[in-house]
Amino acid sequence: MSPPVFRFAPSPNGRLHLGHAFSALLNEKMARATEGRFLLRIEDIDTIRCTPALTSLMLADLGWLGLQWEEPVLRQSANLGDYHAAQQTLRDRGLLYPCFCSRQDIARAVGDEASRDPEGQPLYPGTCRHMTKEDRSQRLARGDPAAWRIDMSRALAELPAHLTFSEESSGSAVNEIARPEGWGDVVLVRKDIGTSYHVAVVIDDTRQGVTHVVRGRDLFHATSIHRLLQHLLRLPVPRYFHHALINDEAGRKLSKSLGSRSLSDLRQEGVSATDVRKALGF
Ligand code: GLU
Repeated sequence: MSPPVFRFAPSPNGRLHLGHAFSALLNEKMARATEGRFLLRIEDIDTIRCTPALTSLMLADLGWLGLQWEEPVLRQSANLGDYHAAQQTLRDRGLLYPCFCSRQDIARAVGDEASRDPEGQPLYPGTCRHMTKEDRSQRLARGDPAAWRIDMSRALAELPAHLTFSEESSGSAVNEIARPEGWGDVVLVRKDIGTSYHVAVVIDDTRQGVTHVVRGRDLFHATSIHRLLQHLLRLPVPRYFHHALINDEAGRKLSKSLGSRSLSDLRQEGVSATDVRKALGF
């Protein structure tokens, strides 16, 4: 049988903090414990916020922590074509539509009483879903910038009664029901970067043969979108483990000793990698 595959997938859009270190160390530890592989992926599709300097700093921080990942490291910015191909498949199947709305347009359309997605953003009211074909083609031909949203009710019509994923955060595997409907017509192709985290993550977990996705609890709800995409694109489904965030329970004690400083700050202040590992319980 092939070994389990774990990955740590940070976005170099800022400095790494203790929460990142915890996630990376946990992935590495779980890979070791299962004689699995530990991979690193740089999630730098947002070429505006993710800079080469931040990527270098991130790699230096992870090396300093003593993490050992397999080479080569996958960089998402080098694989944009694959995300575009997946998006095209969804478009060809009539599951995406272009949306020309600005944030303000949406805020104006939904008012104060908007239903919200799991991240607290107002659900898209579907304005551009109702556009005529002619208007759509005309605006696209004119080069009006568009995001592409999933037509959630169409996508839901392609799903089995219950779409589930295995979640191991409670110590044993539990079958969670994916609830993509809670996100409404979520954006799968951002206007500014031409793709999205959701598309890139499912394509790359497949490409890297990831069997266990171990990441923070903040991404638990996004897993419903990932599960939906895996179903629509016929991709394999890894197991999930959404760990507690370091700024909840565990973090309180920790912030007393190490504070909320970035790993590079801690490093410069002379804190050792062993201190950081110890403080995080590794
Ligand atoms: N790149 C994401 C982040 O830094 C994590 C993605 C994932 O683990 O699925 O928050």
